[in-house]
Amino acid sequence: MAGLTAAQSLREEGWDGPITVAGAEPHVPYDRPPLSKQVLAEDWDAQRIAFWPEGLALKLDVELLLGRRAVSLDAAAHRVRLADGEQLEYDRLVIATGAHARSLPNVPELDGVHLLRSLDDALALRADLARASRLVVVGGGFIGAEVASSARARGLEVVVVEALELPLVRVLGRRMAAACARLHMESGVVLRCGDGVSAIEGGGRVEAVRLRDGTAVDADAVVIGIGCAPTTAWLDGSGVHVEDGIVCDAHGATSQPGVYAAGDVARWHNDFLGATARVEHWTNAVEQGRAVAQAIVHGDGATRFESVPYFWSDQHGVKLQLAGVPHPDDEVHVVENDESARKLVALYARDGMLTGVLGFGRAGAVARMRQMLQRRATLQEALEAASKPTAPKLLRVSTH
Ligand SMILES: Cc1cc2nc3c(=O)[nH]c(=O)nc-3n(C[C@H](O)[C@H](O)[C@H](O)COP(=O)(O)OP(=O)(O)OC[C@H]3O[C@@H](n4cnc5c(N)ncnc54)[C@H](O)[C@@H]3O)c2cc1C
Repeated sequence: MAGLTAAQSLREEGWDGPITVAGAEPHVPYDRPPLSKQVLAEDWDAQRIAFWPEGLALKLDVELLLGRRAVSLDAAAHRVRLADGEQLEYDRLVIATGAHARSLPNVPELDGVHLLRSLDDALALRADLARASRLVVVGGGFIGAEVASSARARGLEVVVVEALELPLVRVLGRRMAAACARLHMESGVVLRCGDGVSAIEGGGRVEAVRLRDGTAVDADAVVIGIGCAPTTAWLDGSGVHVEDGIVCDAHGATSQPGVYAAGDVARWHNDFLGATARVEHWTNAVEQGRAVAQAIVHGDGATRFESVPYFWSDQHGVKLQLAGVPHPDDEVHVVENDESARKLVALYARDGMLTGVLGFGRAGAVARMRQMLQRRATLQEALEAASKPTAPKLLRVSTH
């Protein structure tokens, strides 16, 4: 996402030199969010999730090298080496190698055990879901929750195993994590929280997931959804500073001249946060792809990166959206809660300042609050805005 967006934005910003995009995957570049949603639940195919419309690469005069993995970077010589031995020379380099899914230690080689990051992963998982009746999802984060939702839509029995007391509790805090857990339970997902996996068992094919408390959960398919790690191993020895992602300034520049990074792989300085952060969300990848193109074309004249983190997730027919960086211990003010329509807006606050907004099915309210976060609104201002007639209907205001 970040790489293609940078390429397209470079053209929009007036870059008229050659642009080459080298990607490890053989597929026409595709959008990743549908992999855990429509590709699993509604059998969407690769064409439907293409990131660029057909012909755009040609129109932009961007050369796409598909199935071509970069294996090393010689930053002094301005050269990237590909797995087939070809060397690509550059004036400017944008690294957008994303992240890869983490696995559990000592997972045996069994059919039916999946990670989910790529289209190939999603197609392999879908093929298994079509013949399975019992799925265990290890990890109740956003990807695990979406896989659980898609598998329920296909009629499977689904158990989510989550090490913490509630899925997402470290992101949303206890009260809103409980609201998300309710979505699962109302849709028939069984949650096994506060327990970890001690073994994945089977002979040839997976048969069960053994939990630390000794119980076994039967499974025909297992998805391990415990997060991802930035794909930086190929940069070893390049001199690019990596520390849980490629460390970048507020224009995406790395420690090496002419080398930039963007998206899941990058740890940018974000003026909104006043710190560097690695953000694994689609909107961040697109925003940084655009910002890095501006930095390359306009140099120090480009705007510094100052963005309120935002993402969405589709679960059990509800669109969840979170903007900001709430801390799990922040105050929560629920300004709208229509349980029958499964619509909710919750504001997070600390020391009188708005820190985040969570919405279920309330895109307009979340967008408005994201703008307020960007302007560093106080909680009082946000509560007043939420209660205005143009804002979402005020059903209940409660705090804890
Ligand atoms: C299943 C799934 C669902 C998601 N759903 C949502 C959602 O609902 N909302 C949301 O906000 N975010 C979602 N995300 C996150 C979002 O998709 C990512 O934040 C986004 O894709 C990051 O874009 P990127 O360009 O940084 O990395 P990627 O999209 O991962 O792209 C990196 C590319 O680099 C390639 N690559 C890796 N190493 C090399 C190499 N050495 N040489 C050449 N190419 C290489 C990879 O093959 C990949 O194609 C989801 C992610 C997944 C996996």
